[in-house]
Order: sequence, then structure tokens, then C-alpha cells
Amino acid sequence: CPGDERAVRIPRYVRVNTLLWTTEEAIRYYTEKGFQISDPFSTNKAFARDEHILDLLLFNPRAQFHNDICYKTGKVILQDKASCFPATVLAPPSEEHSVVIDATAAPGNKTSHLSALMGGKGKLYAFERDKRRFSTLKAMLSKATCKNVEAVNVDFLSVDPLTHNYAKATHILLDPSCSGSGIVNRLDHLLGAANEENEEQEERLNKLAAFQLMMIKHAMKFPSVQKIVYSTCSIHATENERVVCEALKSEEAQKENFRLAPRKDVLPQWHRRGLREGLDSPEHASSLVRCSPDNDATNGFFVSCFVKGSQVTHSVDYPRTRKR
Ligand code: SAM
Repeated sequence: CPGDERAVRIPRYVRVNTLLWTTEEAIRYYTEKGFQISDPFSTNKAFARDEHILDLLLFNPRAQFHNDICYKTGKVILQDKASCFPATVLAPPSEEHSVVIDATAAPGNKTSHLSALMGGKGKLYAFERDKRRFSTLKAMLSKATCKNVEAVNVDFLSVDPLTHNYAKATHILLDPSCSGSGIVNRLDHLLGAANEENEEQEERLNKLAAFQLMMIKHAMKFPSVQKIVYSTCSIHATENERVVCEALKSEEAQKENFRLAPRKDVLPQWHRRGLREGLDSPEHASSLVRCSPDNDATNGFFVSCFVKGSQVTHSVDYPRTRKR
């Protein structure tokens, strides 16, 4: 069905900015405002807590937040559920000496999520190469009061991994430019007429994939890095499973012994996993996460997690919930 119809079936996702208040406080606030905990599709005033992401609330798709004081003051952030997966999977450390990098940060939703998961502690470098988008990022970080973030207007590929503080980064989030083909209101290109441009599209996807691979390989050069999360809002295997497969075979990965984190550390309760297509080792599919815009009430999305050597991975505690 066309993008607009899909959008009506996606709840209004609202992430609680835990740098400013707790999810319990947010639930109490919205209850006092007349909302009731119930199936968010049942009435305009119904809302619920997400079963996979601890600090995410689901409201009716018609609920409006642009005039909500909590939205205006950064206490809540409008962020699609799937877009909350990468920071959750990265599970950044939250100690005073922690160093984390968000390599492609603007507009900053995932940066502010990382900052919240770090409890505002340690140092989070947020790189963004585009000047205009960098301004948006700065405004977003200020609104969300992310005090442990240093935003840098730079091309990640030009950052020297051996530079003093960057060399200490243990966790890197990589959410680079992609085709955006999973974004619900951009899905119309999948309907008939667009097929006329197949060849052009293939060329474009291949170019994006080459860039995405380069970004992962660069991230692997940071000497202290233990964990790299690579994500896209694309539905194409060319930008997802194939890029991951090439990255695993790269010299950088072989040298540092990077492998995919096992399913138990990558949103284990989430049902939709990677496609076997595009992978040399089909068993890797279970380590990967996908979101389907048709079936999961989210935008189309992809998440992968590389870990170095025999690192024991740490993950965010997930709520114990029923399987979907
Ligand atoms: N993670 C962001 C969020 O959740 O708000 C969205 C990131 S968006 C998909 C990709 C961003 O990466 C764009 O703002 C783009 O300008 C930036 N970018 C692309 N290549 C880059 C590079 N080599 N270095 C730094 N930023 C880059």
C-alpha cells in the first residue's frame, strides 16, 4: 500500500529524554494530561510503553506533539522505533572515562539517545560533515541538554583514528547516508512506474554501498574500538547484508578479528532478522536486525553490530516481553 496509508498504521513514537526525567515521570505526566494506557490505536488519547525499547512511548498516529511543552523543551523526542535500535544495540558505557563516537550524527536523534544511555557521563564525539546539518545537530543537542557531547563539523573519513582522545573510543555508531528507501513516505518509488529506472538505481545503490563500506573500514581502524554498530534506513540488501559481508572480509576486519555480535546481544527479542541473500555465511542473518515497513509498524531499517576479537559484549537490559 502507498506510503501515506502505511504512515497511518505507524504509532506516533515518542522517546523520553532520560537526561531530563524518567519514563515513569513521563507516563504520569501524560496520564494527568488525560491520556490513558491502552492500545494506541484504540482512541486519540491512548498510549502505551514500547515492549522492546525501554524509554519509548507509543501514541495514536493522530496525536500531535509540536505544541507539547515537553517536546518544545526537549523532554521528549519524536523518533521512530526502528531508529532507536542502533543506540540500544551499541549500549554505550556510562562511566566518567568512557569515549564514544557517533560518526555521522545530524540531525542528532541517535546522538541524543546515546548521550541519554551514557547517563550524560564520559565523552561522546558527534561528527557531521555537512555545515547546514551540523547547525541542526548543535541545536538539537542543546535542546536535549546533551552535556557530554562534543559536536565536530568534520568528515569522519578525515579523522585520524590515532589522534589522542579519538584513539580511546571504544564504541562507534555509524549511521551513514543511505538511499532512505525504508522511510515510509518515500516508499512510492517501489510501485510499478519506478522500475523503469532499475539500472540507474542499481548504480546509485552500488555507489552508496562503496561509501558505506569505506566508513565501516575506517571505523575499524580506531585502536581501542570494541564495538561498531552500522545501520541504515534502507530496505536494500546492497546497502545492508552485502556491505556487512564485504566489511567482514576486509583487511581491516581480518587484521583486528572483527566478527558479528551474536543474536543474544543484538535485540534478541526482535523477531525480524537479516536476509540470507547477500551473505556469504547465511548463519550470520540471525545476528542482523531488519524492520519491515509493511509488517512492523516502523520505517524500514537495518542494524548490524561488529565486535572485536573475543570481546564479551554488554547490552542494554531489555524488558522481558512476549515474542511478537
Ligand atoms: N544518525 C542521525 C540521526 O539519527 O539523527 C542520522 C544520520 S543521516 C542518515 C547521515 C548523516 O551523515 C548526514 O547528516 C550526512 O551529512 C552525514 N555524513 C555523511 N557522510 C559523512 C562523513 N563522511 N562524515 C561525517 N558525516 C557524514
